[in-house]
Order: sequence, then C-alpha cells, then structure tokens
Amino acid sequence: MKVLAIGCHPDDLEIGCGGTLARYVDNGHEVYMCYIANGDKGHAVIKPEKLKKIREREAYESAKLLGANKVFSIDIPDLLVKASKEDIVLKVMEVIRAVNPDLIITHDPDDYMEDHRQTSQIVFDASFSVSVPHYETQSKATSVVPLYYMDTLAGINFQPEEYVDITKYIDKKLAALDKHESQIKWMSDHDKIDFLDFVKTVSKFRGLQCNVTYAEAFRSCHTWPRGTTKRLLP
Ligand SMILES: [Zn+2]
Repeated sequence: MKVLAIGCHPDDLEIGCGGTLARYVDNGHEVYMCYIANGDKGHAVIKPEKLKKIREREAYESAKLLGANKVFSIDIPDLLVKASKEDIVLKVMEVIRAVNPDLIITHDPDDYMEDHRQTSQIVFDASFSVSVPHYETQSKATSVVPLYYMDTLAGINFQPEEYVDITKYIDKKLAALDKHESQIKWMSDHDKIDFLDFVKTVSKFRGLQCNVTYAEAFRSCHTWPRGTTKRLLP
C-alpha cells in the first residue's frame, strides 16, 4: 500500500502517527509525508526565514529516520493555513494525485489550534476534489480514499475508534520527534516542557486503553465514499 500522511507543522506527524508510519514501513508499505505550514513562527528568538530552513532540514532528517519515501512541503507560513485559499487546496491536491495513496492520515477536525483544524478541512476537501478530472493540477485525477484522523494534541476531545500497537516503534517515534531539535530544545530550555515525555505519556495512555504498552489512536472519516471493509491501519 501507499500511505500518505499530511500534517500541519513539520513535527505534527511524528507526534500523532510517527510510530504507525514506522510500522507501515517495517511492514513493507510505502510512506509519504507532507506538511502544510513551514513552521516559520515556532520560535521566540530565531527569525522566520532562518527557522523555516532549519525546520525543513529537521523534517527531512526525521522522515529519513522513519523510512518515508518522500516528504513534501506546501510551504505556507504559520498561522496562514486556510481552507478557503484555493491555491493551498490545489497544492495539496497535486501531492495526493502525485502519490495516489491507498489511504490518507491527517489531523482531527477538533484539534487544539486553528492551523491544525484548517489542515484537516484542507485535506478533506483536497482528497475529494482529486477525483474530479476537470479540476486540473499537473497530475491526473485519482480516487477518493479512506481518510483517518490521528489523535489530537494530548488526546483531548478525541474518542479513538482504532488503535495501532507501536510498542516496538516507540523509540523510533521519539527519535524522529527528537530530530525536530529547534522545537524540542526550545521547549525544554525556555518553557521547561519535556515534549518527548509529553508524547510518550500520550502513547502510554493510549496503550493502556487497548492492552499494549504504547499505542497511537485513530478514528476514520465516515463520509461517502470513504468506507472500507478492510483494516488499513497496521
Ligand atoms: Zn502543529
């Protein structure tokens, strides 16, 4: 299978589904990652133009560690991710068509910040619009595929429907997240937040809900024609 995960900021996929992506790769599937916002405002000292380049490199290194085939950047400045902007939807459509995935993973519509909620809406729109041949981008039209929403930050307001056992992949998930040094180190030094422990705690909490040590939680988008009789998560 080809799996396309579309997150908002450069580190969001590692937080929400990094273990699942590593497990897909280990099971022989192709994983493609895409982030919409370039992360340029995620620091109080490093200026946006410089930070954007740092975060691009961190995202690339993390994707490499997870074993992803490719990482796409839509390159939208932080806080300007809007589903009402057609140019953003078209860029995401082109990524989906270029990959032609069997399933897509993105943010939950009820996540904690507006850029994430807009990303969820953009992916919902784009992943339907790809099937309309006369709505053209460079690549040809592809089918509407199942869409999965990954856990919200800290798991708030999220009722899981399916779990993925990531016990074997928790170290890889955290190592990938740790590649986002501009975020992890900043939060540790200046806000005294141990973000690796934060993310590990959520994985452990989801794990106890499904009787494994560490897990990631998902729910699926139920609109037509995204239903399937198969278990697509690993
Ligand atoms: Zn984010």
